[in-house]
Amino acid sequence: MKPDIPIPIPFMDDEEKRLAGEAIASGWVAQGPMVGRFEELVAAYTGAKHAVAVSSCTAALHVTLVALRIGPGDEVIVPSLSFIASANAVRHAGALPVFVDIDPTTYNIDPARIEAAITGATRAIMPVHQIGLSCEMDAIRAIAKKHNLLIIEDGACAIGSLYRGKRLGGESPAFAMSFHPRKVITTGEGGMVLTNDAALERKLRLLRHHGMSVSDLDRHKAGGLVTESYELVGYNYRMSDVQAALGVAQMAKLDYILERRRTLADRYSQAFSHAKGLAIPREPDYARHNWQSYMPRVTRESKTGRDDLMARLLARGIATRRGIMAIHREPAYRDVPVRHPLTETERANDECIILPLYPSMPEAQQDRVIEEVLAAVG
Ligand SMILES: *Cc1c(COP(=O)(O)O)cnc(C)c1O
Repeated sequence: MKPDIPIPIPFMDDEEKRLAGEAIASGWVAQGPMVGRFEELVAAYTGAKHAVAVSSCTAALHVTLVALRIGPGDEVIVPSLSFIASANAVRHAGALPVFVDIDPTTYNIDPARIEAAITGATRAIMPVHQIGLSCEMDAIRAIAKKHNLLIIEDGACAIGSLYRGKRLGGESPAFAMSFHPRKVITTGEGGMVLTNDAALERKLRLLRHHGMSVSDLDRHKAGGLVTESYELVGYNYRMSDVQAALGVAQMAKLDYILERRRTLADRYSQAFSHAKGLAIPREPDYARHNWQSYMPRVTRESKTGRDDLMARLLARGIATRRGIMAIHREPAYRDVPVRHPLTETERANDECIILPLYPSMPEAQQDRVIEEVLAAVG
């Protein structure tokens, strides 16, 4: 069945078509001027010193781990309640993901459980700002400092979210973003690393482009003959200029998108505030959500369980998604040991639901979702 309330990707408007056309007409396929323009916009917006565009957030996480020399024999602490790419990136680098349980009120890694997971092999913590809600970074930074660990943030969903009044990514040693269509803004496919470390930035630029010492754009600008060298074994993790053109146009809409998402999230929370069968998402005082997703929990007092609720809504033309996945439960992770209890992770994985929410969602459509959900949960 094709649901009539799907979760659509952001639309293409005239400005996006114009800029994409400009990128194509310029003759630059990859690493042309649009990539730099998009990087500058995101850096300025977040307050980060450097931004390096890549082909996806998965690539962003992987290339950052490689640049920081995290590999075989090393362990990285990561939540299991995340999209599988967080842990996959650790495995691509050859390191071992060590799963730590979440705080059941924020769905983010619980800082109080991190220290118990640290071993002599631990090199880094990868906090995931899940569905855009900021982790409690002060607590995580204090643990990292005490144990001399790196922090690589998975901010795939987190553009525009605030931590203690500041935009995420602006103060981070390494922060990975995604521009996949399910995120707040999109380039079709795409990712970026934000960093305040100039040495890391240089290494990331090399690694995304086969380890090549000069970019195509710089060679072109140089005019004369420039011969490149290959300093590292790199990857092809470039973002194309056409993708970056979409990103430039999407950045101009970001404030509007965030405002619409907040309005719609507030409408859901207000409508569900007295429903015993549903626990609405909460913003802790240190965070301001970007509402990349709206994910309530179906409580034990609900008349309808989570899976039945999803089926019932789908039968009425409303597409939902189960909440965030639990990576350790997937067959691909059979061989990765679970060293620490993941009770809250499994509960959230079983009980949460993601409801439709997108900037252009008409309020009448949202009202229909609200009505159907309330009728089902009681
Ligand atoms: C979407 C997502 C990713 C992967 O992003 P891609 O750009 O598709 O590679 C990684 N981590 C989290 C938490 C995500 O939500």
